[in-house]
Amino acid sequence: MELLAMYEEIAAITRPLCLAGTGCGDRASRPYRCCEKQYCDRAAKFARDGYGIELQPTGHPEIPFMGPSGCTIPLHLRPICTIHACAISWAPTINPDDPAMLLTQRILRAEHAAGRQVI
Ligand code: SF4
Ligand code: SF4
Repeated sequence: MELLAMYEEIAAITRPLCLAGTGCGDRASRPYRCCEKQYCDRAAKFARDGYGIELQPTGHPEIPFMGPSGCTIPLHLRPICTIHACAISWAPTINPDDPAMLLTQRILRAEHAAGRQVI
């Protein structure tokens, strides 16, 4: 499967969990849940180092890439945001055969092969 398709597929798994607030814990009451400048900064570095792309901030006072309808950055340029959902990553028991975990590993291998550093 092509890399962008893999990001679409993992987002189809993580996005509903995040929208539902499953696993957000005390971040559930925050307006932007776990979105923070530090993660936007990591996306900016990933896009710059990996693709030579300079991501454009939205002007949000606290979260550089947050727009009126959510994050403005394509899934594949903010990989740690796209692949992470607390309900999966911080589950009490990690099932290595879980489809999301397997897909994440495939994405990380593909990024590594392309010379991009995700984590
Ligand atoms: S990554 Fe975790 S804290 Fe952030 S929105 Fe998803 S479940 Fe909530
Ligand atoms: S999802 Fe977007 S707005 Fe949220 S931390 Fe990641 S890059 Fe920033």
